Amino acid sequence: MLTDSPQLWTDDERWQVLMENVKDFGIFMLDADGHFATWNVGAERVLGFTAEEILGLPFSTIFTPEDIELQQPQFEFREAREKGRCEDERWHVRKDGSRFWASGVLTPLWTARGVLRGFAKVVRDITERKMAELAVTEANRRKDEFLAILSHEFRNPLSAIMNAAQILKLEASQGEATEQATSVIQRQGEGLIRIVDDLLDISRINNGKFQLLREQVDLRDALASALEAAAPLIQGRQHDVRYVAPEEPIWLEADPHRLRQIFLNLLANAAKYTTPGGQIAVVVSNAGPQATVRIKDDGAGIVSEMLPRIFELFVQVDNSTERSSGGLGIGLSLVKRLVEMHGGKVEAYSDGIGKGSEFVVQLPIRCEREFNTSALGDDVFKAPRSGGKILIAEDNSDAAVTMALLLKKCGYQVTIASSGPEALQLVDELRPDAAILDIGLPGMDGCQVAQLIRNRPELAQIRLLALSGYGNAEDQQRSRQAGFEAHLIKPVEFATLLKLLDGSRQANA
Ligand code: ADP
Repeated sequence: MLTDSPQLWTDDERWQVLMENVKDFGIFMLDADGHFATWNVGAERVLGFTAEEILGLPFSTIFTPEDIELQQPQFEFREAREKGRCEDERWHVRKDGSRFWASGVLTPLWTARGVLRGFAKVVRDITERKMAELAVTEANRRKDEFLAILSHEFRNPLSAIMNAAQILKLEASQGEATEQATSVIQRQGEGLIRIVDDLLDISRINNGKFQLLREQVDLRDALASALEAAAPLIQGRQHDVRYVAPEEPIWLEADPHRLRQIFLNLLANAAKYTTPGGQIAVVVSNAGPQATVRIKDDGAGIVSEMLPRIFELFVQVDNSTERSSGGLGIGLSLVKRLVEMHGGKVEAYSDGIGKGSEFVVQLPIRCEREFNTSALGDDVFKAPRSGGKILIAEDNSDAAVTMALLLKKCGYQVTIASSGPEALQLVDELRPDAAILDIGLPGMDGCQVAQLIRNRPELAQIRLLALSGYGNAEDQQRSRQAGFEAHLIKPVEFATLLKLLDGSRQANA
């Protein structure tokens, strides 16, 4: 009979009480050959074997066949011997064959003279926690998948809306109200496109499906393009912009589309978080191996406690008046990820509320060579055009019709096909100068159509442009392999499309 006080028990008694009462942890020992030597009630509870059933059996008895194949029991023994302990989390098998997720530590037992006597192991069933973690991972995966599908589904209608707005804008006889309404559609539409793009990119980065398409870029071109894209927002809020950049090019090895996205996000924020009539300064410099872009505004400013956090996903400064500026709190997080993927860094500075903010982006200068890059941004719509036959193959009829209307306004003859086979037939009949093929066409996808066209030497003059909702490196590579010369991501920037088509006409002339 044991006395009440554990201090008075013998070592054997303490050991026995401990082994018989600790039920949440399986505690057992193995001999130096790796066979079970002791077994407590906790182990029986967790693993289902009684002491009589398991003593003398090898350690591998409680491992899954996969782990036995991988020699995990031997690995645990070796690791414990070499490092003094082996901690692991893995599936173990109960007597009835069911599996549970176990967290355990295996410890070697040495004699005073350094001879291995065996091992002690403590295991715990943490299946519930593991399942909760798996559920969170699965929920996250589904959230990312949902965001990707959602943003993709937004692209087609947005393309059509933006094309339609562009058509209205090109109409000569507009009343003032129509003109204003058109500007609102364009400005708000561009804002929506930015959000959709950001969402899609964040989910691609999180899924590891994001790749930069690096080329030699003049940083000043990326800024010019971002400033042009931000112009409606900046002008809409009557801000004054000062832009200072060196005379000579600043060559980076970077993804031009992503550079533009970085600066557009920062410019859009400067415009959004500054009361109308504010000052925005964009200063570019290239000292040493770094190019630096400073985007400074005299707007709302940021409280110092928030400065380190604003680059986190979904973080917005909690200020009720600023909620009216909209946004999801993803822009800066994306900016940071993109800048870092380019090997650079971005930092935010502010002297506090109402004192303006400054965002400083530093990017490594990689290449001093001169390249022949043509900056976008001239007034492409006004350039005179004549003729030129274009085939648009796109099954979303709103998107096809609006793009066709725009191209007709710019002097092209346009025909629409709504399936792969129809596109192929029309290419044969009409021999267009260029074919803009949606990748997701019914009947035969855009890449198959392109391949069939490229296989026929008599159609070699036809320029092929791919149109797709997806723009990751794999998609672009697939388009290139199919014979496309350019891969346009929806919603297509009309100015870019016109530049490509103009190029195709000159090349064919
Ligand atoms: P969003 O603008 O969609 O809220 P961002 O990630 O772009 O998300 O920005 C996060 C937060 O940082 C914003 O909600 C805003 O409070 C703050 N912020 C960003 N840029 C500025 C700026 N130029 N001036 C003041 N606050 C800013």
